Amino acid sequence: MTRTLVRAFSSHTMLRLMCAISPEQSNRANFNFDDFTWDHYEKLLRLATGNYTIAGYQELSYRDDFLLWRHDVDYSPQRAVTMAKLDAKHGVRANFFVLIRSDFYNFLDEESINAFAEIRDLGHHIGLHFDASFQSPVASREGMEARLAREREMVMNELGTSVDVFSFHNPTPELLQAFSGPSYAGMVNAYSRGFFEQIGYCSDSNGYWRFQRLEDVLTNREHRKLQVLTHPEWWTKTVTSPHERAFSCIDGRANWLKSKYTGFLEQNDRKDIDW
Ligand SMILES: [Zn+2]
Repeated sequence: MTRTLVRAFSSHTMLRLMCAISPEQSNRANFNFDDFTWDHYEKLLRLATGNYTIAGYQELSYRDDFLLWRHDVDYSPQRAVTMAKLDAKHGVRANFFVLIRSDFYNFLDEESINAFAEIRDLGHHIGLHFDASFQSPVASREGMEARLAREREMVMNELGTSVDVFSFHNPTPELLQAFSGPSYAGMVNAYSRGFFEQIGYCSDSNGYWRFQRLEDVLTNREHRKLQVLTHPEWWTKTVTSPHERAFSCIDGRANWLKSKYTGFLEQNDRKDIDW
């Protein structure tokens, strides 16, 4: 074949291939949708326990290798319970961080408190997931520590457990720069500069692997010390897109609220008046 023919053949083949792959299929492959199922999560737990010693933030020895497994609960305490059960099944004592100021759940409602109490009773550590941008950003160390202490107190009181570590929710680079110390308000800072200088990091933020796939990180064991961040909302039983995973949390809570509303009316012999 002449070079022109080869080029024509190649572009024709490429066109056919592009037509054969739908956008859904390419997103599924490109963003590893299949990684975010409970089955795959268990595979990751097996890899983690086979290759690392699982540690808590308060018990780190830098002489040894370790893996810190952190869950920032942004959207769904219910999915966090599922994750906590799988962690416990595989002997992983993980770290679940409560977000008091979530738009997606109310930490103080009965369902949420019960969910976090169940996580605590499974033997996991409870930490604070802290939104430093709430209302107005805090600039001083004193102001930051006062707010951290207040939220820490609330979680400790509600769950009757110690809270010795916190992480920032949606931190900006400026925030991480300004508050890069090892601890604030008596809690370990999971985003301290020291952690990021000495410990590898892998996160599932926004429902996909932005830098490295966790499976590769755990298999290759390129970091002898590792902090893993997973968010329960991004993990479901079946293969779905990140958008579907987020919206199913939102719809699940809306449906729960509706049934709570109608259930209250029924139990109290009230009418549900509509048009
Ligand atoms: Zn968060």
